[in-house]
Amino acid sequence: MFSYSDITQITTRFLHPETPLDMVVEEARHLTRTIFSQQKSDSPHSYWQMRLFAPIYVSNFCMNQCLYCGFRGPGTIRRSHLSVTEVLTEAEVLMNRGFRSLLIVAGESPRVTPEYLSEIIARLVQQNGVPSVEIAPQPVENYAKMVAAGCSGITLFQETYNRDLYQQYHPAGPKSDYDWRYGAIERAAEAGMPQLGFGFLLGLAADPREELIAMISQASDLMKRFPDRNLGFSLPRLHAAPNGFKPPFPVGDELFIRMYCTLRVIFPEANLVLSTREKSELRNQLASICITQMSAGSSTAPGGYTQRTEISDPQFEITDERSVTEVQNWLIRNGHHVIY
Ligand code: SAM
Ligand code: SF4
Repeated sequence: MFSYSDITQITTRFLHPETPLDMVVEEARHLTRTIFSQQKSDSPHSYWQMRLFAPIYVSNFCMNQCLYCGFRGPGTIRRSHLSVTEVLTEAEVLMNRGFRSLLIVAGESPRVTPEYLSEIIARLVQQNGVPSVEIAPQPVENYAKMVAAGCSGITLFQETYNRDLYQQYHPAGPKSDYDWRYGAIERAAEAGMPQLGFGFLLGLAADPREELIAMISQASDLMKRFPDRNLGFSLPRLHAAPNGFKPPFPVGDELFIRMYCTLRVIFPEANLVLSTREKSELRNQLASICITQMSAGSSTAPGGYTQRTEISDPQFEITDERSVTEVQNWLIRNGHHVIY
């Protein structure tokens, strides 16, 4: 476990443009290959394990007003809230494509209750799914219900660790409470959540180094209390924000790669997660450096896998439009062992 000053020093060095990118990349690649490679019984070679997952957007109703998100309320998008049966129909399509790891995503709305989520989770587990959630922050007892139903993990992005900026981007709604959000992953851990997924939205804050250090410190502190949990990190970049919102501090590809490499060096065993917000070339590049979990063939609209897109709008159009089979074939050709 690194001290705060080690974290600051490593992050500063890895993000600095004068530190050769090749060196940063090689260090991250070496660690990932060492820790995530496995021998397959039918082959003398070892393969780098890559888990593919798919999000299922269950509701795009939202009472928050995050300036950067197309789902923000009240807004004029077409909205829907899927019934448990409709969610299971979405899951069936994904399971037929091979997926087992399914991330349940929802806006914040009174209809997205712990009972609704727990029922979805339990039904997915019955069908050999491995469900996790990306939802609004909950109290411990709600997370405990989901854990009891078989929830495998939580993903929750702090968006920005800068309190003043946080207040500006989240002017109203329950999400405007910074501390309630900051404490959510700890509450999930207290409830027994096995995987804890951190992240922040790249493009919101002027100093990505400070943001990365803040996230790493948050995760390190939690690991001291919950050393038995799996860690996950995502670095979502602002993408297709609603009209009128321009990412104030866009993060370029090189810095993006350096940030993922920093996470690998500080948390060698963590799952580093990459979404279809990014283009295929960059996803391929990062899949060969440090990523261990990626989404593929995603839809960001409730009902999007069962052609119900005429009644609800997506959060954003995805950028890597390859099918699951295309992503899988690329990974296999490039030395990965794909798991779902
Ligand atoms: N409503 C829950 C929440 O906000 O935590 C979970 C669902 S929300 C759709 C999931 C994540 O989408 C947010 O945490 C935010 O980081 C990300 N997001 C929102 N707008 C985005 C945009 N324009 N580009 C990229 N990611 C975005
Ligand atoms: Fe709602 Fe989440 Fe989008 Fe904010 S980021 S508007 S809370 S769905």
